[in-house]
Amino acid sequence: MRWDMGRRSDNIEDRRGGGGIPIGLAGGGIGTVVLLVLALFFGFDPSVILQGGGGQPAVDQTTDSPSASPSADPARDFVSVVLADTEDTWRELFRRMNREYREPKLVLFTSAVQSACGIAGSATGPFYCPGDHKLYLDLAFFRALATRFHAPGDFAQAYVIAHEVGHHVQSILGLFDERRVARGGEHDVSVRRELQADCFAGIWAHHAEASRHILEAGDVEEALGAAAAVGDDRLQRQAGGRVAPDTFTHGSSEQRVRWFKRGLQSGELRDCDTYSAARL
Ligand SMILES: [Zn+2]
Repeated sequence: MRWDMGRRSDNIEDRRGGGGIPIGLAGGGIGTVVLLVLALFFGFDPSVILQGGGGQPAVDQTTDSPSASPSADPARDFVSVVLADTEDTWRELFRRMNREYREPKLVLFTSAVQSACGIAGSATGPFYCPGDHKLYLDLAFFRALATRFHAPGDFAQAYVIAHEVGHHVQSILGLFDERRVARGGEHDVSVRRELQADCFAGIWAHHAEASRHILEAGDVEEALGAAAAVGDDRLQRQAGGRVAPDTFTHGSSEQRVRWFKRGLQSGELRDCDTYSAARL
């Protein structure tokens, strides 16, 4: 991916290292409902979330401490450029719909983080919290994506960020809690929500390529590889269990690849209506 000349986003909230979770909050949530945020996680078992925040407001006791110079922190720099590109893309797409795009914040953390959706550990994987309109990302996930999930490459990482931004877009458009066609109950709604976020990630890639020519050879394959790697069937098989489609919360590898591709090819929101799709 050609990214180093790209604009950097101002919406990175860097909470890495030191003071991540205020102790009072981490210990005080016992008895509160553990908000598992209804499987908004990227591809992991929500039970790894440490402890919920319930209805408490998220108390952010950390400070934003950007690194001294962008080049000293290439991983953050990359995330910042991808986030900025999603901002530029979605701002323009919202403008065409006569709507205003409100940019989300992206919180970088290590180990554990407090969000309006509760306290989450790194093992949760990247996630979006609609309660505070923030994306949460531990950069260690990108290393896991390359090694454990065999999906290396910068565009694989960009897809992950774009997927979480996709959830933010859903949230703004009122598509996050879509219940129109809960054909198969909670799991079905969750899968349709996740596949739509994949499709929206594809829409971003479509427009970013059309207007800024960011793609290099192999990039699309990297994103598709990542989409496939975090399919529920692949994850369940990797965990040593049997594949149980009725427990899917994110969709199969094949479905995730298909919806990302659909967004990538069309670039149109109307082609991402997973909630109405007869076939996923
Ligand atoms: Zn997701």
